[in-house]
Amino acid sequence: MKAVCWMGKESIEVHDVADPQIINPRDAIIKVTRTAICGSDLHLYGGLIPTMESGDILGHEFMGIVEEVGRGVKNLKRGDRVVIPFTIACGNCLFCKGDLWSLCDNTNPNAHIAETMYGYSGSALFGYSHIYGGYAGGQAQYVRVPFADVGPLKIENDLPDDKVLFLSDIFPTGYQGAVNANIKPGDTVSVWGCGPVGLFAIASAYMLGAGKVIAIDRFPERLALARKVGAITIDYSKDDVSIIEALRDLSGGVGPDSCIDCVGIEAHSHSAAGLYDKVKQTLKLETDRPFVLRQAIQAIRKGGTLSIPGVYGGVLDKVNFGAAFGKGIHMAMGQTHMHKLLKPLLAHVEAGDIDPSFLISHIVGIDQAPDMYAKWQKKEDGVTKIVIDPWQSTINPTTDGRIFPTTTRTLVP
Ligand SMILES: [Zn+2]
Ligand SMILES: [Zn+2]
Repeated sequence: MKAVCWMGKESIEVHDVADPQIINPRDAIIKVTRTAICGSDLHLYGGLIPTMESGDILGHEFMGIVEEVGRGVKNLKRGDRVVIPFTIACGNCLFCKGDLWSLCDNTNPNAHIAETMYGYSGSALFGYSHIYGGYAGGQAQYVRVPFADVGPLKIENDLPDDKVLFLSDIFPTGYQGAVNANIKPGDTVSVWGCGPVGLFAIASAYMLGAGKVIAIDRFPERLALARKVGAITIDYSKDDVSIIEALRDLSGGVGPDSCIDCVGIEAHSHSAAGLYDKVKQTLKLETDRPFVLRQAIQAIRKGGTLSIPGVYGGVLDKVNFGAAFGKGIHMAMGQTHMHKLLKPLLAHVEAGDIDPSFLISHIVGIDQAPDMYAKWQKKEDGVTKIVIDPWQSTINPTTDGRIFPTTTRTLVP
């Protein structure tokens, strides 16, 4: 089969590799019909996540048709249409039983690596380095799904793939980001980063009753989508903009009730602090660039809630924890507890409350995937979200995969 493989930092290639096989009774083999590149795949592309090995198959956002199931999988049969959550959970451990699915104790065979860094390991992830289990990802024609009696969400409607695919990660991840922000009716919420997770966090904040959402980014195509979802936008790259002051002005002088950091590890800033992070990260004196986290801690109102769906990997420098303490803020973070969110969010899509496909800018064949990684990393050609059909080599060749201006779409039909 064909698969999108990580070959080294900023090196992605499509290779012919062996088809996956059932290894355990609880496995299923899925024929992938649609997969997507995630913003967090760019951390892998940029070489920021350790323990990647040359030839690793990428991809944790995918869906498809059940091809084969192990004898322990009774809930699925060949031909079922399924979306697969990006976290892998056993369904039986203390954490799965406690609805903390992304903290599953049993799915990461390389837990010892994570334990040396973090004390304990979270759940395994598809296609996301050997720290997270070393499972092959879904940017391929077939994928082995372990614990398939627990994870896959059956799609029993005729909605097209593009409307349900993002249940695999970015919609639940943005939604959990908003839930963790403890939003009360009428609250003012600020969201850093208007990539896919940020856009779903904005939409979810309104679904949860926010009165006003303020979104921060610098790319015009993303800011335009954020406005489509109803946010007031701030372009932080404009020289005369102070984010802290702007947020204070937009929140009656007290600061936002909730702040959501949808940026994480690779924050960008023109400021001296931004440069400081870049230098320290390059010299490996700091693993993450926590610029957004610092700014959010500064901006948030006293007693507010800071939610962090953006991914962090390691040790942070110069985070003003005293400010967080002094203002008595609440913080919530972590990987998404996918398994508890899939069904309720599918119901929202089926009811027509939200059309997740609105943010797709590019639909490509598998052989175009390496180019699309490069393009998205450089933020070229208005990329907002890339979807791959692994069974076609090339799609939309005349526009290099771009479908049409995303600004013609709406999130809430
Ligand atoms: Zn993702
Ligand atoms: Zn578990």
